[in-house]
Amino acid sequence: MGTKMRKLDVAIVGAGAAGIACGMKLLDKGNHNFMIYEKGRSYEKRYCPVDHGRTCMKCDGICNVISGFGGCIHYGDSVKLSVYPSGKRLYQLLGPDAYYSCLEFALEHFFRNRYLEFQMTEGNKITEMDVKDYGICSLDSGQVKEALRNSFDYLESNQCISLETVVKKIEKQEDGFFLTLQRTSGEETVYAAKVVIATGRDGVTWWKEMTGHLGVKAEPPVISLGFRFEMDKKYLTGIGERHPDLKLRFVKGGRKFKTFCFCAGKKGGKLKGENYGDFTLLDGHILLDKDEESGFANFALLMQLTHDRERMTYSQVVSRYIARYKKLGGYSGMPVFQNYSSFRNREDGSEQNGTSLASARPAAVWKLLEPEEHTMFCEVADEIIRWIMEFNGLHAGQIEEFGKKIYILGMEIESLWDTICLDEAMMTTVDGLYVTGDCAGLAQGIIPAAVSGVYVAEKIV
Ligand SMILES: Cc1cc2nc3c(=O)[nH]c(=O)nc-3n(C[C@H](O)[C@H](O)[C@H](O)COP(=O)(O)OP(=O)(O)OC[C@H]3O[C@@H](n4cnc5c(N)ncnc54)[C@H](O)[C@@H]3O)c2cc1C
Repeated sequence: MGTKMRKLDVAIVGAGAAGIACGMKLLDKGNHNFMIYEKGRSYEKRYCPVDHGRTCMKCDGICNVISGFGGCIHYGDSVKLSVYPSGKRLYQLLGPDAYYSCLEFALEHFFRNRYLEFQMTEGNKITEMDVKDYGICSLDSGQVKEALRNSFDYLESNQCISLETVVKKIEKQEDGFFLTLQRTSGEETVYAAKVVIATGRDGVTWWKEMTGHLGVKAEPPVISLGFRFEMDKKYLTGIGERHPDLKLRFVKGGRKFKTFCFCAGKKGGKLKGENYGDFTLLDGHILLDKDEESGFANFALLMQLTHDRERMTYSQVVSRYIARYKKLGGYSGMPVFQNYSSFRNREDGSEQNGTSLASARPAAVWKLLEPEEHTMFCEVADEIIRWIMEFNGLHAGQIEEFGKKIYILGMEIESLWDTICLDEAMMTTVDGLYVTGDCAGLAQGIIPAAVSGVYVAEKIV
């Protein structure tokens, strides 16, 4: 005799900030007939060899940095939380009242403190360049651990979370959905009246396939590509103290450039690897009072990608930049480095590894860009580096010498998700299918993810 199929009111796919916050709000509303399905491991089992000076081992196809309970919030890292005007498009969709009430819920229930103090940045006090200002607050690794442990305990005690469970496929039914789940023990099909997609970075390819399969209407993304700039933390921590998340903005040749994820806390910053199966991209983390100490700090410089002045599609990025990355130096898409002067002069890039990432390999990193992109990228980078030199009382004319102390590490890609067409409840064009967090393609970051998760839970039942 076959077992009866489980019937849920809501299935949430992914336990990052969006999925967790959505689940917590559903419980708060008294709804217990839902499940969060998360393909990755439990928060305590998210060991990353790169964090311990070793090479990325691909971890059986599930990257512990971007997958597992917490999603891209990795147990043991610190994070920066940014509020509106960061995540403007989400704020505009929700409106101020809903945005702030969902934010309050997320701060109180997920981050355990509704009174977290967000400080408005004042970029114009440190530079005349164009800076984006918004409210920001940092949580050290101890606070992040506590938030993840508490939210996991809450969801688990209500039997609403299933880890190491991949949602392989979603099929639309006349009324609701069938979800095919894959566990080590085998496959199972469940029914859910409504589905919330919260699959973030790890799910970028899967969600792309699902939008096609389910006929979800979407627009191409605005993808950015760039590199991490790593240097001795003494050059960046003074800036980080005055502005913890410096976002400088530039327009060059009709393209937008920005600095991103500035990682220069009291203890510096570290680099993170994110594995996507057959290639590994880079990201960064700030190190605060309670974290380990690093001699380095870093930030990313990203450039929006366009093709014939149009937005570049996901598959164009894969076939051009990711294909090049996978071939560069014969390293199969593993992180590479070059010092900035050598990158700028289009040299071979065979210097010794002076980065914090022991596994990074020397390469002609500049070859990842088109020649005209490389020229524009260096013009913007020069402007930033000269400013960093002046900030540190160095003569900006000596950029060639200073550039040898800066390492360019790659590759980093941001905002790969299509912008999903959503109604005011964040429902897609498929009835009953909702999307939250990064994969909605509206706003990237922990706070937008958590806020949108709470919002969808408010609207869905
Ligand atoms: C290294 C790093 C540092 C960052 N630092 C910051 C920071 O300091 N501040 C900030 O605001 N943002 C930061 N970000 C970005 C931020 O973490 C994300 O924007 C945010 O976590 C998005 O949340 P999410 O819930 O949308 O998705 P994610 O956090 O990406 O979670 C998605 C989850 O879905 C799961 N999943 C995917 N597909 C499936 C499937 N088919 N079945 C089941 N589960 C699936 C994944 O395993 C993952 O756990 C950082 C990102 C990285 C990678």
